[in-house]
Amino acid sequence: MNIHEYQGKEILRQYGVKVPEGRVAFTVEEAVEAAKQLGTPVTVVKAQIHAGGRGKAGGVKVAKSLDDVRTYASEILGKVLVTHQTGPEGKEVKRLLVEQGCDIKKEYYVGLVLDRGTGRVVMMASEEGGTEIEEVAEHSPEKIIKEIIDPAVGMQAFQARKLAYAINIPAELVNKAVKFMLGLYSAFVEKDCSIAEINPLVVTGDGEVMALDAKLNFDSNALFRHKDILELRDLDEEDEKEIQASKFDLSYIALDGNIGCMVNGAGLAMATMDIIKYYGGEPANFLDVGGGATAEKVTEAFKIILSDPSVKGIFVNIFGGIMRCDVIASGVIEAAKQIQLDKPLVVRLEGTNVELGKKLLNESGLNIVAADSMADGAQKIVALVK
Ligand code: ADP
Ligand code: MG
Repeated sequence: MNIHEYQGKEILRQYGVKVPEGRVAFTVEEAVEAAKQLGTPVTVVKAQIHAGGRGKAGGVKVAKSLDDVRTYASEILGKVLVTHQTGPEGKEVKRLLVEQGCDIKKEYYVGLVLDRGTGRVVMMASEEGGTEIEEVAEHSPEKIIKEIIDPAVGMQAFQARKLAYAINIPAELVNKAVKFMLGLYSAFVEKDCSIAEINPLVVTGDGEVMALDAKLNFDSNALFRHKDILELRDLDEEDEKEIQASKFDLSYIALDGNIGCMVNGAGLAMATMDIIKYYGGEPANFLDVGGGATAEKVTEAFKIILSDPSVKGIFVNIFGGIMRCDVIASGVIEAAKQIQLDKPLVVRLEGTNVELGKKLLNESGLNIVAADSMADGAQKIVALVK
């Protein structure tokens, strides 16, 4: 789960990570009021969306007067920002962060992720902050320094010091940078983050080490023990279909193609998407209905898939292991009837009671194409949507 920059900064503040003073604003008036209250000569008006790259897209503006704040706030609020992380459709700005302008001397990068290779949290730091770190990673990976953290003892001060020196934080500020990094690490672990990214971390004219941006992402499997974080969820920032899916405990991710997929098990779902692509099609989604899919769940899954206007056909690929194929077939038939399915539907079933399942599908009177294998099913649906 993602949260907004201003919310991330609030959390970091609790862990002793320095951030600029700032306030959230939902209207132009609130933005001007926030700037008044801050009372700093320079304020920065920042679009709050769950995506980076706002600066380049015109979503971060430096205001030198209250009039500037009013102008920028009216410009940015309601604007659809298109950044390299939003996709071409962009995201509408509904909130602003109005914060104290910072006298930046130099911008750095610090990030924490779980490194799947080592199975440990790794802190990455770079002298090349502010710009797109992805580019640095691609063209000059040697400029990103890493420290792997032992979970038994947590991040140690010497590791933070090593990083701070390696990225050339001025010697007199290394202690502040160490405090910053250790605080960031504590926040990451205690709040069950999957990503914590500060780009830029800055050194200021008056000798502070601060987070000017904050991207925190949380492991959704751990949210049950972080009610405070769950409250920060902004449904406006999430895909409507994904929200609906989460209500029914379905794992659904919207994609750009036109073949809706309904599959049980994440591994099979991945394989199904692969095989659709292999035969020249494009999946419209990833959808795992789980091991214990009921007829109700299957119906909901169909509805969600079909609410995507780009879907031209559906491929159901189910392995009946725990579930029996006849139960799944009944669910599919029920759902197809309920929602008056008028798009091509290819169903491939395998496992317990597969013959009975196929028989039910064949006798349903619905326009369902039964497939004999995964490859057969993928070829059939690709041909049908063409
Ligand atoms: P994004 O990563 O989405 O573009 P950032 O929060 O990193 O957004 O802001 C982009 C740039 O704007 C920063 O690299 C920094 O140079 C500048 N900036 C952001 N916040 C402030 C601030 N409070 N004071 C001065 N400059 C800022
Ligand atoms: Mg940034």
